Amino acid sequence: MAAAVAEQPPSSSSSPPSTAIKTILGRYQSGKLLGKGSFAKVYHARSLTTNQSVAIKVIDKAKTHPSMEPRIVGEVAAMRRLNHPNILKIHEVLASKSKIYLVMELAKGGDLFGKLSRRADHKFPEPLARKYFHQLVSALQYCHQNGVAHRDVKPQNLLLDEEGNIKVSDFGLSAVAETTVASKDKLMLQTSCGTPAFAAPEIVGRTRNGYDGSKADAWSCGVILFVMLTGYLPFDDANLVMMYRKMHRREFRFPSWVSKPARGLISRLLDPNPNNRLSIDDIPNDSWFKNNGMMYSRSVSLGDMASLEEKKYKKLLLMDRCNTMSEDIDRARCNQSSMNAFEIISMSSGLNLSGMFDQDYSDGRREKRFTSRESKAVVVEKVVGVGERLGYEVEKREKCCGNFCVWLGKGRFVLSVTVSEVASELVVVEMKVVDSGGVGWDQEEVYWEQLKSGLGDIIASWNQ
Ligand code: AMP
Repeated sequence: MAAAVAEQPPSSSSSPPSTAIKTILGRYQSGKLLGKGSFAKVYHARSLTTNQSVAIKVIDKAKTHPSMEPRIVGEVAAMRRLNHPNILKIHEVLASKSKIYLVMELAKGGDLFGKLSRRADHKFPEPLARKYFHQLVSALQYCHQNGVAHRDVKPQNLLLDEEGNIKVSDFGLSAVAETTVASKDKLMLQTSCGTPAFAAPEIVGRTRNGYDGSKADAWSCGVILFVMLTGYLPFDDANLVMMYRKMHRREFRFPSWVSKPARGLISRLLDPNPNNRLSIDDIPNDSWFKNNGMMYSRSVSLGDMASLEEKKYKKLLLMDRCNTMSEDIDRARCNQSSMNAFEIISMSSGLNLSGMFDQDYSDGRREKRFTSRESKAVVVEKVVGVGERLGYEVEKREKCCGNFCVWLGKGRFVLSVTVSEVASELVVVEMKVVDSGGVGWDQEEVYWEQLKSGLGDIIASWNQ
């Protein structure tokens, strides 16, 4: 695929600093900053020849890794191929030595996320959500028919024109599937991309055969619809491992104001198995989508909110894992596919896995976590061995899902150590003081240090 970027001769006036751009290549006068993306800034601008208002995405080449270049080229190529009323148009692409300028249609209504967050209740009534959803599905259907999966559908990429119509933007992560069409005429994509909270779970747990980009977009549509109707994410956790577990276990809850037909559609879109997931092409047959002339939405009462908060709290209690969670609940939660360690690591910054841990564990003394690349059996035996060597009474119990809980007791000081395999090559160990037995903070710190140094090289990452 040829790059759609036309290189222009560099000049000092053509590459102004991104903070104070006045004119761009003598062709556009730039105005206020409209927004910032992951690797670019977007400015309001006016054509000096036609006076047309446009948006210009300014990409500083120096700030992008060389590997971004194909993504940028992909964005341009994908967008230029598409012509649909709900897809943002690219007028032209210019470049200087240091910058790339994407001159785009101006979406005067801002982005959908901004519109949602400006509403007092942070959600849309169902008829309005349905209107946006119709336009999104229409745009994506068109994309898929043209061999393009978007792969980063999220409210920030859903812009609005002045009439309040959706304009899907930011094909920076989309892929043109011409080289990777697999046997069943599906777009099988090979690269990892997307925004975790909106991206389909198979994008992280992807197989060697790639994944179906249009099914991944269908998942994101489910998340978008959920967010539009509720004002919050269906799967949200600072701990990425937990978030992907929730996705695989379908752990999301609807607040009571979401209608049954909307719940049905979202549930069929948020199916972690892409083979069972509703496809974009089948969405128009759904009863909520068609509406059938019915009004489904109803107002929210304070009672609804209270019960939601209560449910969230109960869920937190449930997650207080091995010693309180019943085997039945555990077993029901085990029905998940796993990711491989590399994929999880690639989601965190560098090789530092601390981002996988909940924030509130980072400086607490009463709980510690670490990851290991060793097998679960090796980790359990090491914990048992180190415990015995350090003078603990040790009891090993197998939980369901093949996870283990090792109890370490020294006098009245008791630790539970839960060893769980979260991916085929990644074990997470959670150590918790069940009973401090009057042991002071200083002494407890000594115990942690002893355990840490005893466990030694089986630790891949220690959360502190
Ligand atoms: P992006 O880099 O495409 O994610 O854009 C970052 C932000 O800039 C978006 O969330 C929008 O708020 C804004 N933006 C991007 N493109 C446009 C556009 N064509 N018209 C108006 N605002 C835009």
